[in-house]
Amino acid sequence: MSSAPVIASIGLGANLGDAQTTVQRAIVALGSFPHTTVVAQSSLFRSAPIDAVGDDFVNAVAQLHTTLSAQQLLAELLQLEQVFGRERSHRNAPRTLDLDLLLFGQQEIDTATLTVPHPRLTQRAFTLIPLLQIDPLIVIPGRGAAHAFVPDVAGQSIQKII
Ligand code: AMP
Repeated sequence: MSSAPVIASIGLGANLGDAQTTVQRAIVALGSFPHTTVVAQSSLFRSAPIDAVGDDFVNAVAQLHTTLSAQQLLAELLQLEQVFGRERSHRNAPRTLDLDLLLFGQQEIDTATLTVPHPRLTQRAFTLIPLLQIDPLIVIPGRGAAHAFVPDVAGQSIQKII
């Protein structure tokens, strides 16, 4: 079963091993989801861990055109995290690959397993800045223009890598 097409924004992060290669390969893998194509991707960024331990993270945002439902897309994301060998000993432990469903079109979703827009999207430079690089005028359902939140994350360390 497929749904009406939407643009979904995915946040990617990695801080174990060759994190840059992991993020690049993961973006390619997003395009292998059923009924899904990658239509935009940000630069790769380096960010200091927030509420987490370990090395700096490599982060990026990708936008997908998909006819999967939001729940189907989340299931694909969780499966891809497993493929990349994420092992979590405790919450916020270092991870091979973390994938977050940031936006799903203009939809607002609040279920036991899925909250969209992602609750921390506008509080974290590592999701907000790459998203704005792709679409400077993007509007976050229920919250307004994404660029209005930039001052809130100004104190967080983030640098463009490539
Ligand atoms: P974490 O890896 O700590 O980000 O948590 C992953 C869990 O958060 C998943 O098992 C999801 O069920 C849940 N979750 C809720 N909303 C989202 C979202 N927008 N994107 C990704 N995971 C989400």
